[in-house]
This record gives sequence, C-alpha cells and structure tokens, in this order.
Amino acid sequence: MTAHPTGPLVLVVEDEPQMRRFLRTALDTHGYRSVEAGTVSEAGMLARTHNPELILLDLGLPDGDGIDFTRQLRTFSQTPIVVLSARGQESDKVSALEAGADDYLTKPFGTGELIARMRVALRHAHPGLAGNKKRTFEIGDLHIDLDSHLITRGATEIHLTPIEYKLLVLMAENVGKVLTHRQILKDVWGPAYASRPHYVRVHMAELRKKIEENPARPKLLVTELGVGYRLRDPI
Ligand code: CA
Repeated sequence: MTAHPTGPLVLVVEDEPQMRRFLRTALDTHGYRSVEAGTVSEAGMLARTHNPELILLDLGLPDGDGIDFTRQLRTFSQTPIVVLSARGQESDKVSALEAGADDYLTKPFGTGELIARMRVALRHAHPGLAGNKKRTFEIGDLHIDLDSHLITRGATEIHLTPIEYKLLVLMAENVGKVLTHRQILKDVWGPAYASRPHYVRVHMAELRKKIEENPARPKLLVTELGVGYRLRDPI
C-alpha cells in the first residue's frame, strides 16, 4: 500500500477473508489505497471517519444487508458504490441499484473487470461534471451531438423517434453504467410509468435495429439479465 500513497481511497466491505485478500491485492497493484470492513456497522463507521472515494460492497454481511447500508449511506454521502454480489441475486442487484448503488460485479470476477467498473463509477461521481454536461458522445462508431440532435454511425445519419432519442441520450450520459428498467422508465417516460418494463424492452429493440451492426447480438446496448441495460463503449 506504500507504493502509491496518493491513489483514491476505497472502502472494502466484505466478510469473506479470501475475497478480501483478492480485493486488497487488486487494489494495491493498481495504485488504490484501501480500508476494510467486515460488517455493516464497521462500514458505517469507516465511511464517516475516512470519507472514501469509492465503496466496494458485499451484500450479505454478518450483521445486516448491503442494501440497507446503501440506503443509510445515501442519506449523508454520494460516494459511488459498486456492489459485489453472487450469481442468482438479480433482485438484490436491482434493489441495491435503486437504493443508490452505482454498479455491481457478479462473483467471481477478474481484476480487469473490477478496475474497469471502478473507473466508470469514479468518473460518474466527479462532481465537476454535473455543471458541465457533455454535449457530444463518441461510443464506438456512434456519434451523438446533443446540440444539433444529430446521430451518426460512421458516415450514416440515424433517424430516431423522440423516445428512442431520449433513451439513447440517457444511456450515453451513463455510458459504462448499468441502469435498471425502473430507472430508465422514470427518466424517459416519467415516474408514473416505473412499472412498465415492456416499454423499455420494445424501444430498446427498436433502438438496437438502428444503432447496432447486428441487433440480434448487440455490442453497444447490452442486456444485463434480470437487471436492466448498459451502453458499453467498445474501446
Ligand atoms: Ca458475504
């Protein structure tokens, strides 16, 4: 931990010793500093005393649940949270994201995936971006210009319906990040539509036909099974 004393500070909330060792090594190797908690109460204390820049959060902890921790933390802090969950916990992932977590990783995951997700979460957390929103996006060969409402793929202009446009802009503003069906519905259609996931499925399918090379095997707008969607930057 002494090699890179200035890296971002990460709070690791995990009760399995093996997983903790893996995370410690991965963070250390990539220049992150870390503090570790094995329980919800320890995590709450460290979050207040150390003011970490990012939190890696296991959902099943001996004295409680990572989702409750997320809810509590969000009452006083906007520190990005990446949830570490087991396969098959899709509903827990959705609850965690809707409680205010930023992303999740499904165990087992590799160091590369961990660091990539952490970078995305840290980038979105940057407070400077809020007042200085991007007006253009380059995602793969897709170019989105919010000022002219012009969307092109390579040299071809893409024509979107107003809903598809809102959907694509929302995903582009959150590139790399997973959004739940409910989050997408609230943002694109409004809070009254939060329980109509089929809206999202139908319009995502239409959008894919227009922006994906092969809509049946999407490379940009990927489905996160049981959770939602993510716009992936292929680079
Ligand atoms: Ca656990």
